[in-house]
Amino acid sequence: MGPPDAILGITEAFKKDSSPQKINLGVGAYRDDNGKPFVLECVKKAEQALTSGNLDKEYAPIGGTPEFCLETAKLAFGDNSPVIKDGRNMTVQGISGTGALRLGAAFFSKFYSKGKDFWIPTPSWGNHTPIFKHAGLDVKSYRYYDPNTCGFDFNGAMEDIAKIPEGNVIVLHACAHNPTGVDPKPEQWKEMSALIKKKKLFPFFDMAYQGFASGDTVKDAFALRRFIEDGHEVALAQSYAKNMGLYGERAGAFTIVCGSKEEADRNMSQMKIIIRGMYSSPPIHGARIVTKVLTTPELKNLWLGEVKGMADRIITMREKLVAGLAKEGSSRNWQHIIDQIGMFCFTGLKPDQVERLTKDFSIYLTKDGRISVAGVSSSNVDYLAKAMHEVSK
Ligand code: PMP
Repeated sequence: MGPPDAILGITEAFKKDSSPQKINLGVGAYRDDNGKPFVLECVKKAEQALTSGNLDKEYAPIGGTPEFCLETAKLAFGDNSPVIKDGRNMTVQGISGTGALRLGAAFFSKFYSKGKDFWIPTPSWGNHTPIFKHAGLDVKSYRYYDPNTCGFDFNGAMEDIAKIPEGNVIVLHACAHNPTGVDPKPEQWKEMSALIKKKKLFPFFDMAYQGFASGDTVKDAFALRRFIEDGHEVALAQSYAKNMGLYGERAGAFTIVCGSKEEADRNMSQMKIIIRGMYSSPPIHGARIVTKVLTTPELKNLWLGEVKGMADRIITMREKLVAGLAKEGSSRNWQHIIDQIGMFCFTGLKPDQVERLTKDFSIYLTKDGRISVAGVSSSNVDYLAKAMHEVSK
């Protein structure tokens, strides 16, 4: 018998708890201010338009529809990106972000000749290691989070990156780093890009939260676009789970930016062979929703507003939580809760404090002290502040 998944296990325990004040801060899915799952208005409208169009249920092409792939690449690199104009992107639909990463891992495992080591930040999303290992890659890590400041360990990261052997692959969270909520500043990204170029490493971006960090999809693509400007060829996994709320629809994409269109075409031919042997072709419904939203100006504007709405609510909850902790009389410095970005916050609470939060207050979170700020609402933020103060004073 294998062990249950660490995060999904938390939801199981939460469901069994009968406390009326219980809070689930383990799950990485957005909730509205009433704690309910949120289906975006732009998605509902796109679905209505799709169902009235009498669409068939035929298979998608192996790599997904060209329209979906083009729109998704444009969202990442920009409408006028030379990468897209020159056709240097090999973009295929993936089964959401996880599937996109898995495709990338399979492709690198089979065709990347300069090394099988994938370097991920410490800590990183818990699924990175299994995804890469399943594809036969070796996973190594570079310093990223500094527990003393609850911020980015820039010097540590630069020192470690400088020691990575030439040609190896470095995995970068494009924005809203999971689990820490800690992102490099634009100036730091620039220095990292220069170092990664100098060391001839291959940057592999995981962008699961475009728009969710700042509320602005362009701002959140800064790091990726800067690397392109600096002349890197990159790999990129994208997901619409969070920013379009399409969790269960499994819509995402994998891209390799190549040196030429001809190289992109060759990569595409091989990628199709990999996909055919894994799952033949991707699911169609989520991809159709995405395509409809991104190609209908009215729906796209609605979407951009809704992404900003989700990001803003999270930012407000961060501020309310810190104000609540101060009101409770906490003398600890909680500024990092505000400084961190995106859906998650690394509170800095220790495992025994996390245990007390769950046991005494029915508040569920991962052992590393990560909370999903998306699960915090106007009605539970004061209770959460009180509980966090009680366990940390
Ligand atoms: N990468 C990161 C860093 C994530 O946090 C997630 C979602 N938790 C994903 C990728 C992929 O998620 P999905 O497969 O649901 O798109």
